Amino acid sequence: MAYAQIVIDINHSAVDRFFTYRIPDALPVKPGHHVFVPFGQGDRLKEGFVVALSDSTDLDPSAVKDIVRIIEPYPVLTEDQLALAKWMHTAYHCLFIDALCCMIPAQLRGQRVREKKVATVSIAPDINPEEQIALLMHAPVQQTVLRIVKDAGVIPKNEIGKLLPGASNAVRALLGKGILTEGSETVFRKPSSPVIPTAFHTLTEGQSNAVDTIVQSMNGPDHKTVLLHGVTGSGKTEVYLNAIRACIDRGKQAIVLVPEISLTPQTVGRFADRFGSRIAVLHSRLSVGERFDEWRRIRLKMADIVIGARSAVFAPVENLGLIIIDEEHESSYQSEKTPRYSAIDVAAQRAKLSGCTLVLGSATPQLISYYRALSGRYTLCSLPDRVAGRPLPEVEVINMRDELLLGNNSIFSDRLIELLSTTIGTGKQAMLFINRRGYSTFVSCRSCGYVLKCDNCDISLTYHKVEGRARCHYCGMTKPLPKECPNCGKPFLKQFGIGTEQVEETLHKLFPTVRSLRMDTDTMRTKDAYSRILSAFASGQAQVLIGTQMIAKGHDFPNVTLVGVVAADTTLNLPDYRSAERTFQLLTQVAGRAGRDETPGRVVLQTYAPQHPIIRFAREQNYPAFYQYEIAERKKMLYPPFSLFLRVVFSDTEEQKAAEACIAYAKSLEQELRKLLGEEGKNDILLFVAAEAPVARISGLTRFQLLVKLLRTKRLPDAIRLVYEFQSKSSDLCQSVELEVNPQDMY
Ligand code: ADP
Ligand code: ZN
Repeated sequence: MAYAQIVIDINHSAVDRFFTYRIPDALPVKPGHHVFVPFGQGDRLKEGFVVALSDSTDLDPSAVKDIVRIIEPYPVLTEDQLALAKWMHTAYHCLFIDALCCMIPAQLRGQRVREKKVATVSIAPDINPEEQIALLMHAPVQQTVLRIVKDAGVIPKNEIGKLLPGASNAVRALLGKGILTEGSETVFRKPSSPVIPTAFHTLTEGQSNAVDTIVQSMNGPDHKTVLLHGVTGSGKTEVYLNAIRACIDRGKQAIVLVPEISLTPQTVGRFADRFGSRIAVLHSRLSVGERFDEWRRIRLKMADIVIGARSAVFAPVENLGLIIIDEEHESSYQSEKTPRYSAIDVAAQRAKLSGCTLVLGSATPQLISYYRALSGRYTLCSLPDRVAGRPLPEVEVINMRDELLLGNNSIFSDRLIELLSTTIGTGKQAMLFINRRGYSTFVSCRSCGYVLKCDNCDISLTYHKVEGRARCHYCGMTKPLPKECPNCGKPFLKQFGIGTEQVEETLHKLFPTVRSLRMDTDTMRTKDAYSRILSAFASGQAQVLIGTQMIAKGHDFPNVTLVGVVAADTTLNLPDYRSAERTFQLLTQVAGRAGRDETPGRVVLQTYAPQHPIIRFAREQNYPAFYQYEIAERKKMLYPPFSLFLRVVFSDTEEQKAAEACIAYAKSLEQELRKLLGEEGKNDILLFVAAEAPVARISGLTRFQLLVKLLRTKRLPDAIRLVYEFQSKSSDLCQSVELEVNPQDMY
């Protein structure tokens, strides 16, 4: 007897386990098959996924039900994916079905989308086409059509119709005579992507070293991670293309992840030019049918290279040789919904399971990635120069304190106004960049640049209007706003916050006829707004693009010669230990937008803290110096990678309930955690604070949070496991209890 272990497609913790079913003799069931099984009272038919097979069962055989039917003829999940789902189930404590659902198109479940079929024609059996062609000499159109069909074998009916006038009638006549016969064929809905011709380049020395390192790793026995650190415009894409070529030549497949926002027709086009129809594309803007068909093309081995956003890390590739993650520092690789996975961690695990090579590429790698590279866990490849001797753009730092002294209290410095005017005047374009995350307003002195910080955490304090006090989002400490600056004594201590609207208003006051476009979360409500605004800007419909970090990456605008960072301080003073890292990344990426073409680019960086080391490193675009500085700061304050943050958010319509849930949870978690860590680990808990969340109310829900900071020791994995287990017992304390490990954002 053969049995199958099956996960039922129901999102509920009560059925989060494997159920045993008997495989009827006639059914060729394999692991990964999508099947119908009778389930629960009344044996209603449910969908399920086969995760394993066995010859025997401990259960009473008469109680074991039969699998009713296989849904798709091929297993929808690969062995690789099943192993990955098992890992996710443990690592993220998510439901097994939630992990599986990352790996198959949603439309596959419940059969909400079908394969698309078209009518085809072919030569009827027992017909000798040559004979018929000779006989048809008085019907030239029919003769031609028959020749076409003979050469094609099978051909969609509507396609012949388009080939020559009268073809449709000829097909009808040939069908009538029984010379042709009708059938149907599955077609794949393909997202259209233009092919962008890209010249083959002789690789620079740095590029070919990087390709060699990757290829060597692919040839080697065990999986390796290569960190490709290359400045903007250093030709990282060319390295990827060559590595992929080597991967395919070995008969293996590749997955390339790019941030959703950079997944433009241009990006895909460069790959399409090299690899033609062997590429598949996965992203959220595909139609339901296209997504399903691209997934099927990958699953049926009709594509070798998958290019996609975060979720493409789960693509059903069977013989994986290479995973590339471009712009690996992007926060969009972290999923914000259940299961809250990191595509980088999943890729690392997948690479390990399939023994393939993982390449992480960036001009500004995450601090943790560079840390791992320097400590030998990753292999480091550096491309320190732009190709073809192109210079990095020149960055001018403007001290906004001086502007104030000179009597200019506008948000634009005189220098920025001057450059804007010449840029617009000469028909070039400018980008104005402002980074503002809605909630954060720090407090700083306009005269000396002093920023109000927490004494314990070295984090910028956030001004809370309602309380009229400044508050630390890590430890909860609050202080009243001093009237005068503690540093210089002047009365210029103010909350700081500039929005995109304000930049737009100021721009129009200064340049009443200028046409501008604005891109921020307000103007990005609809799905295609992003590409609409970008293409309007690319086609020259506006001279200035104003935006948040969204405009910092992706597109090449050859006509942009000026990039203005209106206030570098907004990111520098985010209430987050990563503010320095984020600032360096953003400034480097933003500067990389300027001067991609012949005219050299100019970057103006306005700040109240011109001497800040991060501003200096960004001006010099010196990543290694930034790294040395920042890793020392992290070590001093015991921030990640030397520790780990856990955050649990409690929300409820009743304030009381959220608060009580938070306090009760915190109290018993602390007890259990201390018990687990014992005497030896009693100093592992660096922070354990239950308080109101930074944004105390969101859409009618009151929010409280527990923030835990744990030292990175060998005891940490056990501690995390305990928190996850604790979490699954606490889901009904209030309306929502959400756990985040190393949260990207804290609002
Ligand atoms: P990155 O991804 O590192 O920012 P790209 O891969 O986009 O850089 O390369 C920048 C530009 O340099 C592209 O226009 C690319 O075609 C060109 N390029 C890449 N490699 C070479 C090379 N070896 N020689 C000349 N030009 C190159
Ligand atoms: Zn603090």
